[in-house]
Amino acid sequence: EAKRAGRQQFRFFSREMNGRAHARLIMEENLRSAIDRNDFGLVYQPQIQLDTGRLRGFEALLRWDGNGSGQVMPGVFIPLLEETRLINRVGEWVMRESLSQCQEWLPRLGDDLVLSINVSPIQFAMAGLVDALSRLLDDYRLKPSQLELEVTEGTLMQDLDHSCEKLSNLRKLGVRVAIDDFGTGYSSLAYLRHFELDTLKIDRLFVSNMLDSPRDAAVVSTIIDLGRNLGLEVIAEGVETMAQRDWLIAHDCHVMQGFLVAPGLSCDQAKNFPSQIDWSRLPVAVPGD
Ligand code: C2E
Ligand code: MG
Ligand code: MG
Ligand code: MG
Repeated sequence: EAKRAGRQQFRFFSREMNGRAHARLIMEENLRSAIDRNDFGLVYQPQIQLDTGRLRGFEALLRWDGNGSGQVMPGVFIPLLEETRLINRVGEWVMRESLSQCQEWLPRLGDDLVLSINVSPIQFAMAGLVDALSRLLDDYRLKPSQLELEVTEGTLMQDLDHSCEKLSNLRKLGVRVAIDDFGTGYSSLAYLRHFELDTLKIDRLFVSNMLDSPRDAAVVSTIIDLGRNLGLEVIAEGVETMAQRDWLIAHDCHVMQGFLVAPGLSCDQAKNFPSQIDWSRLPVAVPGD
């Protein structure tokens, strides 16, 4: 009896596995043709300075409509792009597309506004990254200080010597670097003080729990202090409520980003986004929405 049940369970399990492997193969095929057809898009999520309510910049976030079968989020397709190394082509597209879209309106909104783009570990390790960026900045006439690369702790800790060298070359070029999802990886404080960085982004996980959990609150305020003491800018990700905003202001965090202000916006919405937000009117009414 038990044996039969076990066998059935195994059959069920393997059928499910095949189904999943099949779905994955289909998605991989779809991703390949999406690259050929240029089927990706970008949205821009605003970041707001907490002391003034002024716009700090936008983070470009990749979108894919999954071949018309409904939007697939990056958490699902980016790991697949990385496994298949297709991320290099897509990552290059993200850099070119975001710079070409922003050149028209970002400097007009403010010449100190920052465009942040996410860079995957494979892309960060690429030999030609700094040269490619330098060419793109020339092509699209953006000041290097208006571009920020977001990398994770894992990316930096992969190869310490290489990371130090790359960060120093990015610094020479004048491009900013942020550590994304800070606090979720295994950072070494010993190395953090050697890396030439500009920004720490506190992971949404801590921000969303900080008002209920004293431990999460302690993590957030410690990261803010660490960032400030190292002379870095600190951005809180995933801010959804006024209470979270107030707490972050009280704890001297520099910048917030999250659904409280706005989700990722289309290019048209982003270029019409107010340069100064009215705290009494959060979330901000999005132009043309
Ligand atoms: P991330 O860089 O940490 O981006 C922040 C993610 O949090 C985005 O999800 C954003 O939509 C979401 N988010 C922002 N505010 C809130 C909020 O208030 N509440 C909640 N619940 N979520 C919020 P998204 O767009 O799904 O991106 C997920 C991850 O995919 C990104 O995390 C980033 O690691 C990666 N990613 C996105 N675009 C790119 C890209 O162009 N290249 C690479 N390599 N990775 C990317
Ligand atoms: Mg990011
Ligand atoms: Mg993040
Ligand atoms: Mg994240």
